[in-house]
Amino acid sequence: MIQDILQQLHISNTNSGVSTGTKWLDAKGAAIQASSPVDGKDIAVVTGASRADYDAVITVAQQAFTEWRLWPAPRRGEIVRQVGEALRRNKEALGKLVSYEMGKSLQEGYGEVQEMIDICDFAVGLSRQLHGLTMHSERPGHRMYEQWHPLGITGIISAFNFPVAVWSWNAMLAWICGDVCVWKPSEKTPLSAIACQQIIQDVLKDNNVPEGVCCLVVGGRETGEWMAADTRVPLVSATGSTRMGKAVSSTVGARLGRALLELGGNNAIIITADADLDMSLIGCVFGAVGTAGQRCTSTRRLIIHESVYETFTQKLVKAYKQLHIGNPLDENNHVGPLIDKDAVNLYLSSIEQVKAQGGTFLVEGGVLSGDAYTSGCYVKPSIAAVENTYPIVQHETFAPILYVMKYSQLEEAIAMQNNVPQGLSSAIMTLNLREAELFLSQAGSDCGIANVNIGTSGAEIGGAFGGEKETGGGRESGSDAWKSYMRRQTNTINYSTKLPLAQGIKFEL
Ligand code: NAD
Repeated sequence: MIQDILQQLHISNTNSGVSTGTKWLDAKGAAIQASSPVDGKDIAVVTGASRADYDAVITVAQQAFTEWRLWPAPRRGEIVRQVGEALRRNKEALGKLVSYEMGKSLQEGYGEVQEMIDICDFAVGLSRQLHGLTMHSERPGHRMYEQWHPLGITGIISAFNFPVAVWSWNAMLAWICGDVCVWKPSEKTPLSAIACQQIIQDVLKDNNVPEGVCCLVVGGRETGEWMAADTRVPLVSATGSTRMGKAVSSTVGARLGRALLELGGNNAIIITADADLDMSLIGCVFGAVGTAGQRCTSTRRLIIHESVYETFTQKLVKAYKQLHIGNPLDENNHVGPLIDKDAVNLYLSSIEQVKAQGGTFLVEGGVLSGDAYTSGCYVKPSIAAVENTYPIVQHETFAPILYVMKYSQLEEAIAMQNNVPQGLSSAIMTLNLREAELFLSQAGSDCGIANVNIGTSGAEIGGAFGGEKETGGGRESGSDAWKSYMRRQTNTINYSTKLPLAQGIKFEL
C-alpha cells in the first residue's frame, strides 16, 4: 500500500530535499534515511541541503519576495485557495504517508491534512481582511492611519509530531501577508514535507507564482541554526522542544530578528467534584494516549479533587485496559508507536525517574515486543500517582505517561496547574459555573489555551494557538496571529497648507 502512496505523491527511492517551488535542486548535503516507526522499515533516502544549497535557496527566495509582495493580497489568497483544493484531492494519500512516516493514527493523519485545508480556507478569507486602524490626528488637516506590509522571508522550522500542519499554519498566513517561505522540516519526517511540495507544485506553475515563494530545505539541526543566524530571514517561526526554542531565540535575538516560538507543553486537566466524570474520561484518555502522547497539547497531568479521586482513577485504569496498541494504519488501534528508539529510551528513563522520585504506578509501562511490534517503538501508556513538585513531573516527557495527583481546594489545583515551567494548554472539567469562571479569570490558568469541559489536546484553527513561559509566547493560526508575519507602519499625511509640529512645538524660521 505504501508504495502506491509514494508513487502518487511522486516520492522515489532517492529524493532531493531542496526545492525553490517548482524546481528541485541537485542537493549536496547529508543523506537522510527516512524510515517508519510503524514497522521499522526504511522508506526512502532524502539528500538534505548543503550550506551552498541553503544560500542558493535564500537568494531565490529574496528575489521572489520583490515580486510576490506586489501581488494584491486577495490574488495571493486565490493561490492559497488552489493549494487547499490540491490538498483536498490528496488528503487520503498525504494522510496515510503522515501516519506511516510519523506513526500517528490514520484518523489523526487525515485530521492533520484537514487542518491544512482549514487553514487554507481561513487564509483565503483573511487575504481580504489585513486590516489596519485609523486614528484621529491631533493636528488640523492631517490624517493618520496604520498599515501592514509584508516582512520578507519567513523561515519555518517544524517538529516531527505535526510533520505537515505546522508548516501550513505558518505558510498559508505568511503567503497571504506577502511573505515568501523557506521550510526546514523535521529530519525525522522529510518525506511528508517533500510530498507537500509535490502536491502544490502544479498550483505554483499554473499561476506563474514566482520561483522562491515556497522553498524547502531538508536538513538537521545545523540547517535550522543557519536560518536562525541569517539576517536575510527577518522572521523565524520555530516549533519544537524548549531546548531548541532557547537556542533559536538567543541566536535570532542577538541579531534583533523576530522569532515566533511554539515549544513544549506540560498540560493539565483539573477534574473537580462537580465534573461529569464519564465525559471527562474521554477527554483525559484521548489527551494522554492519542498520538502516543506526542502532541504538544497532550494531557500530561490530571489534578483530581480528593472526593472523586478514587472513582475517577478506577475509571481511568479500566479504560487503559481497553486500549488497543498497534499499527496506527489499522483503525481498530488507539495507540501507535513512538517516533524512534531514542524516544523509547526517554520514556523508559522517565519511568525510572518517576519511581526514584517516589511515584507509584497505577498502570505500569513497558516496551512491547512480538510480531506486531517489530519496530521496537511501541510502548504501553502508563499512569503514575505523583506530586506536582517532582522534577520529572515538571518536565515534558514526549510519551504516554500520565501523572495523577489530588487536591482539596480549587485555588490549590489552579496553583498546581500553573506551577510548571511550561504554559501551553489547560482544562477544567466542571459543571459548576463559579469554578469554570475562576479557572478562566486572571487568577486562573496561566496558559495560552484554557478550556472548559473539553481536554487539552487538539485545537481549532480559528483561534490563536500558542502558549506562555517556556512554551515560547508565540501565536499561530487563527485570530490576529497573521500580524506576526507583517510589519506595521504608521502613516501621517498632511493635507493642509501649514506644517504644525506634534505636541504643539513651535519652530519658526
Ligand atoms: P526538536 O526541538 O528536537 O526539533 C524541532 C525542529 O527544530 C527540528 O526541525 C530540528 O531539526 C530543529 N532544531 C533542533 N535544534 C535546533 C537548533 N539548535 N537550532 C535550530 N533548529 C533546531 O523537537 P521534536 O522532537 O521534533 O518535537 C517535539 C517537541 O516539539 C515537543 O517539545 C513538543 O511539545 C514541541 N511541539 C510544540 C508545538 C507547539 O505548537 N507548541 C507543536 C508541535 C510540537
